[in-house]
Amino acid sequence: MRFGMETTVMNDTRGLPYRLRLPGPTAVPERVRHEIAGLVVDHHGPEFHALIGEIQSRIRPIFGTRGKVLTFAGSGTAAMEAALANAAPPGTPVLVVAHGQFGVRFGQIARALGCAVDMLEVEWGTAPDPAVIRQRLEQRDYSVLCVTHNETSTGVTADLPAIGELTKDRSTLLLVDSVSGLAGLPVEQDRWHLDLVIGASQKALMCPPGIGLVGVSAKAWAVIERSHGGRFFWDFRKASAALDKMESAFTPPVSLLAGLAEAFRMIDEEGFANVLARHRRLAAGLRAGLAALDFAPFPREASSDTVSVMRMPEGLDGNAVIRRLYEGYRTVVAGSRTHLSGKLIRIGTMGHVSESDILTDLHYIERTLTDLGRAPREGVGVAAAAALLARPPAERRAAA
Ligand code: PLP
Repeated sequence: MRFGMETTVMNDTRGLPYRLRLPGPTAVPERVRHEIAGLVVDHHGPEFHALIGEIQSRIRPIFGTRGKVLTFAGSGTAAMEAALANAAPPGTPVLVVAHGQFGVRFGQIARALGCAVDMLEVEWGTAPDPAVIRQRLEQRDYSVLCVTHNETSTGVTADLPAIGELTKDRSTLLLVDSVSGLAGLPVEQDRWHLDLVIGASQKALMCPPGIGLVGVSAKAWAVIERSHGGRFFWDFRKASAALDKMESAFTPPVSLLAGLAEAFRMIDEEGFANVLARHRRLAAGLRAGLAALDFAPFPREASSDTVSVMRMPEGLDGNAVIRRLYEGYRTVVAGSRTHLSGKLIRIGTMGHVSESDILTDLHYIERTLTDLGRAPREGVGVAAAAALLARPPAERRAAA
């Protein structure tokens, strides 16, 4: 697809590149796009077997698991539904913690599947309190607890290690939506006792949309093996049996999986610990720059390292800023798709992002503010970010 632009350089007549700076989908590196454009191979053949083997071995540190990670053709929402369809047959008592839009979606999916859903609503911009979750788990015998790891709508990260402690000695399965966390934030599925960890290709995994991923714990497998009905394509038992033969139960998105393997190679070349440190560092830099431009962090605590969610400066319409950034500077950032529309700006710091992306974001935001009559002191946002990014790592952590 050309969308009126060069497929590789993508400059418009002004020489401006298209800049996808959303909290997903994110920019896909050239190397990954090149792999995706490669030969489509037989999904029962040796090339595909090798590809699946490589994906399974490289994916383990990212999920922090020695268990299986299943991949499906589908988006993050599909993977959420698949996880629930396997772990929570109709009538299952499910507690959903919602600290933003995607927690609400978890509840909608569980209800659509006929589960007996209770919601634990958490004020948006704050993190779920493990003590409150514990109280709720003590009030009713829930089979499943759903939590959003990284709330992309609010920019808040949940305390997964503490939440995992709550379910590890209960029969309750912990389902974690880490669609916008995985590969950009630490996830230790085994150590933190997370039963089903859900991811998607188009976020920190640096691929186009189209692959949903689910890591499955031994405790989850015990439930899934016993549960019947309610799924066919999404049946994890079929997916697992196929994976044992380095195959896929149904025709897989071969080209996207080739891209995913390349993304994993890139992560391994950089070193996964360095990838996580880069996400932390760039998020802190972007927030410092935006703060210097009078944007205030939306999260009151536990700010995410993969998405910066900021309130607009007083009197400024968020949607006007977003529109101007695109029309003037071909920079695509997100607003809010909720009741907070116009009040927030959301920018991704996940995946294939570098310091120059952050500084360019801030430069264009400064120019946008000027275009909209705000005239900030020239370079103030860029300078604040550059100053933070220039600090040695320990100092940087304290300031963030
Ligand atoms: N969960 C979270 C935290 C997300 O950020 C998203 C997408 O932005 C989803 C779920 C849904 O994923 P998808 O849009 O791939 O269906």
